[in-house]
Amino acid sequence: MGGMGSGRPSGLGAYKCEDYRSIDLAWLNREGFLNRHWWSTITWSRGGETTASIRVKAEQRGLRLSYRARDWGGEWEDVEELIPFSYSATNFDSRRRWFRCLSCGRDCRILYGGKVYRCRKCFGLKYQSQYEPGFGRALSQAQKIREKLGGSLCTDDPFPEKPRGMHWKTYRRLEAKEAYLAAQYNSGFCSHYGGLLGLL
Ligand SMILES: [Zn+2]
Repeated sequence: MGGMGSGRPSGLGAYKCEDYRSIDLAWLNREGFLNRHWWSTITWSRGGETTASIRVKAEQRGLRLSYRARDWGGEWEDVEELIPFSYSATNFDSRRRWFRCLSCGRDCRILYGGKVYRCRKCFGLKYQSQYEPGFGRALSQAQKIREKLGGSLCTDDPFPEKPRGMHWKTYRRLEAKEAYLAAQYNSGFCSHYGGLLGLL
């Protein structure tokens, strides 16, 4: 599906709901964060007010995150984690960089933050039953379609290629359905995480 946002600092461009507390590796790269080996602060804001912030530092092995977090209603804790980079080969000798999710080990481009920063799948699975089964279900249905096509389960990744032997019509139908489910998931995700989990 694509089009997911980034951890965009306040004041830069229009703020999208999808951007809420996510850290997009492609965005970090574009903004030069991955070439700076010192701490930078990313903040998220809504209506001109800062809602969250996190400090990040690119290291050889991964992205170091430092922030304060708490369980719902609990005590604030300092959290520091290194999210390892992993690499996949692309054409010629270029390689693509990913985050390796600390919970499931999957490669992903975008981390979502609550108390910890993890891939969307982990985030969705962890919280779906707690707060809102509806949008979690949309995610698992979207993932089922991806699984059937033999592609990545991460809805941030490009939609899988058409398998041999599948009719284009069927493929297009699945593609449209997956886009619809992923959008449903996004909007549910946004409305439920807009300020739900305390961070900063
Ligand atoms: Zn994960």
